[in-house]
Amino acid sequence: MASSETRRREAFRRLPAVDEVLRRPAVAALLERFPRDVLLGYVHELLDGWRAEIRAGTLDAEALEARVAAGGLEEALAGRIEQERRAGLVRAINATGVVLNTGLGRAPVHPEAAARMAESARSYCVLEVERESGERGQRDARLGELLARLTGAEAGIAVNNNAGAVLLLLSTFARGGDAIVSRGELVEIGGSFRMPAVMEAAGVRLVEVGTTNRTRIEDYANAITRRTGLLLKVHTSNFRVVGFTAEVTARELAALGAERGIPAAFDLGSGLLDGPDAAPLEALGREPRVRDEVASGIDVVTFSGDKLLGGPQAGLLVGKREAISRLRKNPIYRAVRLDKATIAGLEATLELYLAGRADELPARAMLAATAEQLRPRAEALAGALARLPGVDAEVRPERSQPGSGAAPDVFLDTFCVALSAEGRSAASLARALRLGEPPVFARIQDERLLLDPRTLLSGEDEALVGAVRAALAPGADASPAAAGGR
Ligand SMILES: *Cc1c(COP(=O)(O)O)cnc(C)c1O
Repeated sequence: MASSETRRREAFRRLPAVDEVLRRPAVAALLERFPRDVLLGYVHELLDGWRAEIRAGTLDAEALEARVAAGGLEEALAGRIEQERRAGLVRAINATGVVLNTGLGRAPVHPEAAARMAESARSYCVLEVERESGERGQRDARLGELLARLTGAEAGIAVNNNAGAVLLLLSTFARGGDAIVSRGELVEIGGSFRMPAVMEAAGVRLVEVGTTNRTRIEDYANAITRRTGLLLKVHTSNFRVVGFTAEVTARELAALGAERGIPAAFDLGSGLLDGPDAAPLEALGREPRVRDEVASGIDVVTFSGDKLLGGPQAGLLVGKREAISRLRKNPIYRAVRLDKATIAGLEATLELYLAGRADELPARAMLAATAEQLRPRAEALAGALARLPGVDAEVRPERSQPGSGAAPDVFLDTFCVALSAEGRSAASLARALRLGEPPVFARIQDERLLLDPRTLLSGEDEALVGAVRAALAPGADASPAAAGGR
């Protein structure tokens, strides 16, 4: 009986050499797709993994030999390459019914905005130059004008996202001093945006006032000292305090700030915007509107570009001219400013609002769709899916959500397709759909897959049926790496 050490040495000895691997026809063929160095990197990585298995005692000489003979080398390499190819940012189908799905990129922009983004990305553009004088200009001058016009504010400025907007706000008005915030509004937004942590990062001391459920304007007034740089209100976008509650309004905060000579701001987050002729999004209930909060007289209102506004990722700050110009002078602004493609996409999105075409924005249209409007789509989908072998698809009333922490207590009535397939768990189907091309994301409920037509873009219904057909194939839920690793 050989000792385990001898067996291990024997396995190491039979490990194919790198040159030998590269000579295998299927591997050599990969040289057409990758430079030699890159391919070598993959091979080394693979052999290192096998060495680790040998060291751990989970791979002996016989198993190694069998694996190589069965084409395990080629399979593992192809699997690894395929896994990497799929890992990047690829288009996906959102059948979850969560409109502003953060994991899936929040708001899909309007095709006209997308076209403008693509055009600015592939060409030079008038970004920071004045066409009349040829002198250096401001990249978001037009954007600021559009924002002002649409929100009733004196001026506007745009940065990379709303977290950046809040950082810029705090750093500009309260760095080295205090910002006063209600205890009931110390929110945490998904992806580790916690108001207290952002304050600390901005070099601002947080002064909490009031209680979790009740804060009055006197609480703010009593906390003001010579150190106070900012009075801040934060929209509790992703949760609701109900029952015995009291919150300070933007109007009260603006009045207190004006009286004491301290800037006041409102981090609105979700940022519901309404164009001149846009139908209000009734379904969103009491979700605050940017224009109303600006009208309160508060110095600055901040909100996201890719939540209820329905544009590309951005943080928008609107308000008094003097406050906005102070924001612009802060060096942090330079670090969080927007890139040209996003500016182009935002301008196009805001122009749609101005032109009275906001209802065409995909996110707004999805939020506005009624259950009765969605029912025929659900029925057509169910009909097509039920024709696939072994599939049971039924239409049932369900509820969709705005998502991204916008209006957390709002549920939108919808009709979903509840899908099940013979011999397949809902989890296995969902996994196969995620791994497919294009990947599809859906909800699971009561051992059935729920497909919500609310978040399908036009033309995606057929693609979804195709994706389900592919997901039903045996082995569709196995990842390429798992297949290759054995
Ligand atoms: C979403 C949100 C943020 C963060 O905005 P991002 O655009 O995701 O950076 C900050 N504050 C509030 C109140 C929010 O709702």
